[in-house]
Amino acid sequence: MANNSIAQSGNYIGVDLSAQTLRVALVAGDGQVLERRETVLDGEIVSRQTASIVQELRDHAASIEAIGIGIPGLVNPQTHEVVISSGMPSAEHGNLQVELSNLTGLPVALENDANAAAYGEYITGTGRGSRNMFYVTLGQGIGGAIILGGKLWLGASGFAGEFGHITIDPDGAECVCGNTGCLETVASAPNIVRRTHERLFRDGTSSLSKLSMNRDFTAADIAREARNGDDFALLMIERTGRYIGTAVASVINLLNIERIVLGGGVMEAGDLILDPIIREAGRRSFQPCFEATQIVAAGLGADAVAIGAAMLARDAEQI
Ligand SMILES: [Zn+2]
Repeated sequence: MANNSIAQSGNYIGVDLSAQTLRVALVAGDGQVLERRETVLDGEIVSRQTASIVQELRDHAASIEAIGIGIPGLVNPQTHEVVISSGMPSAEHGNLQVELSNLTGLPVALENDANAAAYGEYITGTGRGSRNMFYVTLGQGIGGAIILGGKLWLGASGFAGEFGHITIDPDGAECVCGNTGCLETVASAPNIVRRTHERLFRDGTSSLSKLSMNRDFTAADIAREARNGDDFALLMIERTGRYIGTAVASVINLLNIERIVLGGGVMEAGDLILDPIIREAGRRSFQPCFEATQIVAAGLGADAVAIGAAMLARDAEQI
């Protein structure tokens, strides 16, 4: 865990730009969150908005060494420019890293949000203690990240770990990536809602479900009804878990990875989704690989991206 004591003596700022809410955390060198700030993200003025919160947090900490930012897009590891960002198109114009560094006078590290969350879980969450870890985030979209020997494995061009675009059904629905039947087309939060709507129409017995009384239910509502014992909601969560477990089996076979950490809003269903994921992964993966893998829920919740981004800024020279 510890890198070097000098790097850990200061504090860091972690910024999460992965959602509509801009989250900024003041993070100690050991990964503990000291202060948090949240505001509605304005994509047009994101640099200035972030810089003013950084200034506010500076009043709480004697020394801030660097800023790390997690963004919902792909970052070119050479130029640090945002290459693709579906969640924050404005980030593709201009250079967020340079702008924020100029405004604050601090070094700024930019990283994909899934990579940042993975690193956060690895340092202080449920990935702690592992050397090799695969991280999955299941929310509005599905992302993944690979940590091998304590370092993020970025791949040939920086885009490794696109777990959401593993093919689950060759004849499945069209995905935003151009492929058909990606995991994301069935197991992201909006697609869990879509499948649930479709099945409510098809399946007569589902009218007993509380979900049939609410046309605008969300993935969180489905998870809540499942926890309350609603059989139809349970079935949808269970099936979603089986899809995710099918993709997890591929990861296990490919990497013989020590630990798989699953985070994001979809995992708020807890064991109701984790159990079918583990069962399906066990059924579909090569047994000696499966037996060496711990599959666990993430531990940092909404702080994961900010903590991880801060720790990536801390370790920027080592990584
Ligand atoms: Zn896809």
